[in-house]
Amino acid sequence: MNINGKTKVCAVIGDPVEHSLSPVMHNAAFHELELNYVYVAFHVKNVKMALEGMIGFSLRGLSVTIPHKIEVMEYMDEITPLAEKIGAVNTVTLDNGKLYGTNTDGYGTLQAIETEERIDGKTVVMLGTGGAARAAAFAIACERKPERFFIAGRNEQKVRKLAQEVTQHGKKMVSGLSLEPKELKSIFRETDIIVNTTPIGMHPHEDECLLPEELFSERHVVFDMIYNPAETLLLKRAKRRFARTINGIPMFVHQGAKQFQLWTGEQAPLTVMQKAVKEALGQR
Ligand code: NAP
Repeated sequence: MNINGKTKVCAVIGDPVEHSLSPVMHNAAFHELELNYVYVAFHVKNVKMALEGMIGFSLRGLSVTIPHKIEVMEYMDEITPLAEKIGAVNTVTLDNGKLYGTNTDGYGTLQAIETEERIDGKTVVMLGTGGAARAAAFAIACERKPERFFIAGRNEQKVRKLAQEVTQHGKKMVSGLSLEPKELKSIFRETDIIVNTTPIGMHPHEDECLLPEELFSERHVVFDMIYNPAETLLLKRAKRRFARTINGIPMFVHQGAKQFQLWTGEQAPLTVMQKAVKEALGQR
């Protein structure tokens, strides 16, 4: 790495942030394209001061992670319509002294699913109603044309609220479901794509899974946003029933690739980024 007076700086801000794989991924990409950029991690408690610092130091871009994705919105000069609907910003770009906020998690979700299956015309069931679920739901409903779209969760009120919001903005009516296997069974017979946005399957829930194995079949594509472990119990169960599976690595790489493109104007080297992430996770 050749840092000099012209080096542009990007960073991830979060609390905590030490575990982030973004520095490894973005620096591998900068290095591959021989760009004079560097990417670091900042442990940030005070978002306002961090964004003032971004302007003061002319940082080129920020990735924003938990718990700051909502608060950063207050300080943006402009926010993309999709990020506005999602209600969270995970990417900040500084251009001519102005802060532009966007959300690339939805884009990452679409790209990850579509490594296996086009969403248009398909029936999709999504589990969860949290932050990642909002990004996925608005991207699926607003940027694609699923035939049917269901949101399932343990909290009926949250499910109903998100389904209503997404119906308002999207192209189709979105329905809510419980996580009861009995209720899901008949829907799953006609479902093509299942998306898990809950943390069930990652530490400390590695041995848990929200869905019984018999619900899956070879007609399903099952996408789990979790990337560590690379194969959650949900994906293991789906695989045993001959479903096609996708873990959270492609989503992570694609959301980062979109950031890379915004900050550098270059196409991101996806293979290099994926390799860097897998190596950091101890996979080859
Ligand atoms: P979050 O905002 O906390 O949302 C978590 C969701 O999971 C909520 O809807 C929550 O329901 C539900 N949930 C939690 N425990 C549950 C249980 N025992 N049974 C049923 N539902 C349960 O978290 P997030 O930021 O959306 O992140 C969710 C997951 O996505 C994490 O594993 C994260 O690592 C992953 N993720 C991956 C990527 C990627 O690039 N691959 C990007 C973003 C996030 P309640 O609302 O009822 O509590």
